[in-house]
Amino acid sequence: MVYLGIDVGGTGIKIGVVDAEGAILAQGETPTLVGRPFEDIIHDMGVCALGILERGGYSVEDVASVGIGIPGIADQNTGVVIFCTNLGWRDVPLRAELQRYIDKPVYIDNDATVAGYAESICGVSVGCHSSVFLTLGTGVGGGIVIAGRPWSGAHGVGSEIGHIPMDIDGEPCTCGNFGCLERYCSATAVIRMGREAMLQHPDSDLYAACGGDANKVTAKIVFDCAREGDDVSVKVFRRYVHYMCLALDTVVAFLDPEMIILGGGVSKAGNFLLDAIREQLPRYVLFKTRPFARIEIARLGADAGMIGAAMLGKQPVKEG
Ligand SMILES: [Zn+2]
Repeated sequence: MVYLGIDVGGTGIKIGVVDAEGAILAQGETPTLVGRPFEDIIHDMGVCALGILERGGYSVEDVASVGIGIPGIADQNTGVVIFCTNLGWRDVPLRAELQRYIDKPVYIDNDATVAGYAESICGVSVGCHSSVFLTLGTGVGGGIVIAGRPWSGAHGVGSEIGHIPMDIDGEPCTCGNFGCLERYCSATAVIRMGREAMLQHPDSDLYAACGGDANKVTAKIVFDCAREGDDVSVKVFRRYVHYMCLALDTVVAFLDPEMIILGGGVSKAGNFLLDAIREQLPRYVLFKTRPFARIEIARLGADAGMIGAAMLGKQPVKEG
């Protein structure tokens, strides 16, 4: 049997045929083209999935289940997407609609949750009993795995770490609140801090690297300049590491997972970021003499969503 994994993004829908160990056997993609009726988007999803199965030499009968990762939240019982801001979806019957094309069990969960789940099956957190995955991208997503299974909360609204308030009356957030964690720990935050620093310091390497154009600032440019020793960029980087340590300390204090995994665009800074966080984090945690979560960079990259979604249908291995 194989598992179908579907990773729904704002620009593209990635679909993979995945085996029980999380290996991708066949894959493809179709554009999301946001703004169309959801029936049309799910039609393309179904047709694309059927095409990938056929090209890979599989039939619908070979499929054990279908899993879908969405940038939003879903009702696990009804298979209805409750909220998906990027797609403009509210109360979309994704499971029922997709089953018109592939009549198999359909599981739906949050994209960061399934990415974290994938890492626990065939990525950096294999063998961990508990882990928390953080996607550091335009926003900050969170995924929790406990006892080897994804945990989205009793009502599907858990693990939204990006919207934990870090600063009462702080930076306005896209969610309508103020001072949310993702305003300080996302790529967007690095860009905002980088722009401010650059405009204040026209003599900095960061200013030169962006040609004096604030719109050209990216998280990568800021971190690259910091790595090269540009004082202004180093300050921004250190501030970012400070914010990340506060975020990680929040996770440690609340959940004490075995591992916390950093994924998403910002995590591409790799060891430069990881080393700084590992050095600083011990100062932040509450119980300094006790061991706490190992911090690691995600391993599966852009495939994590597909793999983790596919594995939603895999039943946990019974112990004993
Ligand atoms: Zn928010």
